[in-house]
Parts: sequence; C-alpha cells; structure tokens
Amino acid sequence: MKIKKIPRWANIVFFKGPKGFALGDTVYLSDHYHNQFIASKPSLETEALIAHESEHLERLRKFGRFSLVKYFLSRNFRLQEEIAATKAEMAVLKKGGQVFDYVGRASSWSSINYLFMVSYEEAYRILVGL
Ligand SMILES: [Zn+2]
Repeated sequence: MKIKKIPRWANIVFFKGPKGFALGDTVYLSDHYHNQFIASKPSLETEALIAHESEHLERLRKFGRFSLVKYFLSRNFRLQEEIAATKAEMAVLKKGGQVFDYVGRASSWSSINYLFMVSYEEAYRILVGL
C-alpha cells in the first residue's frame, strides 16, 4: 500500500476537497493529513483516517475492481463499505482514547460528499450503533 498526497485533479473533480480516499493500491491524503503522515509522529486522527482508507483498499481488492463502480451506483453498497471503513477508523480512535464525531460524520454521510447515501437521522442511528 502506498500513501500519497491527493493530486490536484482529484480536488477539482470532487465537489469538496476530501480528507482522503483510496484508489488502486494507494491511499490519498489531503495536504494537511499527508503532512501529518510524513511528520515523525502522525496525529491519532491521521492514523484513524489511514485505517479507514486502508480498509477501503482491502475490501476493494477482495471484491474486485467493479466494486468501485458499484460503490458509486449503489447507495446500499456504499453504505456497507463506509460502515466497514468507519469501524476500522473508530477502533484506532478508541484505542487512543478519542471520541468519534458522530454528528460530523452523520452530516457528511447525508450530504453530497457521499452522494446523499443516507438521511442524517439514519446515519446517526447507524454510527452510534457501531
Ligand atoms: Zn470511506
């Protein structure tokens, strides 16, 4: 697995510059998180983000390349993938004693960032249950 900075094109393509995403064999991180990553001691939030994106990579590899298409086409598949990746992220935060931002993530999941994957209320209910 490689870790790189998000290329310029991706920040133009995505409506709102993401914190990170996974594609192929690479985890892409925003400048802020990439700087954290190359620092001698990355923040817990950076480690959690990498855990989240690594989980996406692993599942993408397991399900095959068409799962990426499925991710965009199927709201339900997208939700299942985000649940799995978020669990990996939460585990890192929990180990470091940091509380997960349920409100922020529920807002994000119900926004254009995740192509209106789920309503805010549903997202919040799912997240607190993880
Ligand atoms: Zn994700």
